[in-house]
Amino acid sequence: MNTLWSDHLDRLTPYVPGEQVAIPGLLKLNTNENPYGPSPRVREALVALADDRLRLYPDPEAHALTDALAHHFSLTPDQVFVGNGSDEVLAHVFNAFFRRGDRALWMPDITYSFYTTYGQLFDVPCREIPLADDFSLRVADYTAAADPEPCGVLFANPNAPTGRALSRDQVAEIARARPDSVVVVDEAYVDFGAESAVALVAHHPNLVVIQTFSKSRALAGLRVGFAVAQPPLIEALRRVKDSFNSYPLGTLAQAGAVAALQDVAWFEHTCRAIMDARTGLVRDLVALGFEVLPSHANFLFVRHGAQTGETLAARLREQAILVRHFRSPRVADFLRITVGTPAQCARLRDAFERILAG
Ligand SMILES: *Cc1c(COP(=O)(O)O)cnc(C)c1O
Repeated sequence: MNTLWSDHLDRLTPYVPGEQVAIPGLLKLNTNENPYGPSPRVREALVALADDRLRLYPDPEAHALTDALAHHFSLTPDQVFVGNGSDEVLAHVFNAFFRRGDRALWMPDITYSFYTTYGQLFDVPCREIPLADDFSLRVADYTAAADPEPCGVLFANPNAPTGRALSRDQVAEIARARPDSVVVVDEAYVDFGAESAVALVAHHPNLVVIQTFSKSRALAGLRVGFAVAQPPLIEALRRVKDSFNSYPLGTLAQAGAVAALQDVAWFEHTCRAIMDARTGLVRDLVALGFEVLPSHANFLFVRHGAQTGETLAARLREQAILVRHFRSPRVADFLRITVGTPAQCARLRDAFERILAG
């Protein structure tokens, strides 16, 4: 606490991202980055723009990218909002929809921990609803009558860090049950085998679907995320954005994202490769005695009866392999491990084999 700080800062627990460190020979499986890198067309697009035009401000409305996304999802541009990473889009969502007096935001107890951080930052009371014992989300918990109504419902699908996913019908059930709340689905990992709710937006005026270019399109460094919803909700996000930063996406980010979106073959091929590697890694880890939650994401959530998550993470680190360990009590035994290339998965498996043997 510092006497020069704003009042709310000492009540704030900032989000802690997975580490980005320089260790020789490091295998980084802690932040769900994509091992294959972006489409080669992204590099071409960035190089083509790295000239005198950078003295100009970018397009504040990111028209080319918004149009490309609208076309990709068979939507109209007034149903698409882009931002500087989906984390920023989420921040705007909190500002635009969840500051409704005492009404609480409902979310799972185990989910992306940025949500409660934003709750603190934007003074949104959060009600954390426990997942079932198998870490699945019980739809009935979110459709039950409530007084007062929540201001909103927010969950990741597939969820992080569990990897478990709801079907599109289950998402629709929640949206239908809460017409006076904004229901937000964070689909950061949806391209690795889950059902997207984008097609539901046309039927649910209270539904917002958020996606990112950071995971399936391997552009975490470019910072591009987006939301899809009916025009009145998109209008609310634009109002917040234009009251905060008119130019959230640089010229390079806009052009790189368009190029990534256009290379459908690269996208499909690399997502398929990660899903195939995931199948192999599940088999290997189960053979080593791990419990592995069913994953629709580019990571696995696993635990081993013989060693704590903390110990396993520390032992992997000695072998220059980083994975993510969370301290919250319900998941402290678990590790979240990004699915890499087959060679990276093999290195992880061999490391576990040595650790568990000795
Ligand atoms: C990675 C991740 C994000 C953040 O994505 P950015 O677009 O890189 O900000 C959002 N939500 C979840 C659940 C994530 O895992």
